[in-house]
Amino acid sequence: MGEKNDAFLVLNAGSSSIKYAVYGVDLQVILNGQVDRIGLDPQYHGGASDIDVPVADNATHAEILDWLLTHIAGLSDNLNIIGAGHRVVHGGQDFSAPARVTDAVIAKLRTLAPLAPGHQPHNLAGIEAVGRRWPNIPQVACFDTAFHRTQPRIAQLFAIPRTFSDDGVLRYGFHGLSYHYISTQLPHHLDQPNGKVIVAHLGNGASMCAMQNMKSVATTMGYTALDGLVMGRRCGELDPGVIFHMLRDRGMSVAEIEDILGTKSGLLGVSDISSDMRDLLASDNPAAAEAVDLFVYQACKKIGALAASMGGVGAIVFTGGIGENSAAIRARILQGCAWLGADLDDTANTSGAARITTADSRLAAFVIPTDEEGIIAGETQRLVGG
Ligand code: ADP
Repeated sequence: MGEKNDAFLVLNAGSSSIKYAVYGVDLQVILNGQVDRIGLDPQYHGGASDIDVPVADNATHAEILDWLLTHIAGLSDNLNIIGAGHRVVHGGQDFSAPARVTDAVIAKLRTLAPLAPGHQPHNLAGIEAVGRRWPNIPQVACFDTAFHRTQPRIAQLFAIPRTFSDDGVLRYGFHGLSYHYISTQLPHHLDQPNGKVIVAHLGNGASMCAMQNMKSVATTMGYTALDGLVMGRRCGELDPGVIFHMLRDRGMSVAEIEDILGTKSGLLGVSDISSDMRDLLASDNPAAAEAVDLFVYQACKKIGALAASMGGVGAIVFTGGIGENSAAIRARILQGCAWLGADLDDTANTSGAARITTADSRLAAFVIPTDEEGIIAGETQRLVGG
């Protein structure tokens, strides 16, 4: 048997999908794949060198994790997995950087589960499953909140009695792994990477991050990932009074309201057609157009707010499924930023160029594909060596 090459496993265990990638020590992807449609009819989709297979319909989330890790172990027979990195949505106030997983770290992260009930338990289940399968390999937790811990306190505070802030009811922000990755790419694209930059991560979940010196200084998401922009199924910015109305005047339960604001709102709720931007752009239904209009309107409004928070903005970066792929949405958002000096280069925008504003544009705009898994792989290597 030949010598085995060292490799890292990266796991992004969500509620409805579990994605993985195996990286070599050169941080190139060797294997990847995912199980999606968990809870419906789970299906495994392998990467280039692998095949698709159905996963038992009635398997629990933990059983699917164990099945997937056994499958990965079979595929990586010629590899020596020396570390595993995980996406963990919430690191609370204590984690401003990735952390080696210990029992104490897991216990701490478990206390944060109520802040991200749809994500945190599944992220932790991924860590536990890897612990069952490979008890001796070091594991690393990489947090979606960590990148934002550099924000000034004023950007994190809600204007509610300070006993709440003392207890950690703060604006945490999310999508930090994506913003971290984009921050590493700014020097490749911008003349002034340390200047005032707004990064728009526009996917099913969507948020924006204001950066100065490549660090987060403000963001649109808050205590939870519900705040800010219009998302696929989440409401984004909302007057809290609407929640009292739902509770008091409509007799709705907390669970019903959570479900409405977290899974039935956003593009889906406004259009009553789909949460998927492609479907809405292809539809001639006026409600679909209105949902897209609201998405663009809120994006422009938040860019204005983030620019104001920094006293200006020199560049905007688009990333995420919509940001990377929809020239039409980028064009509409940048048209709304003409007052900030944005001058769109139509040809560049529709031809896959990285810079999509004209050479003279006062506000420069870029499209940079994100790579959250790559950040996790790099951080895992940094913390476990190899
Ligand atoms: P997630 O937040 O779940 O990771 P993604 O970043 O993959 O989601 O983004 C998914 C969104 O990107 C969907 O709304 C999808 O319609 C949109 N999208 C992907 N490709 C295109 C495209 N070519 N044009 C418009 N929207 C697109």
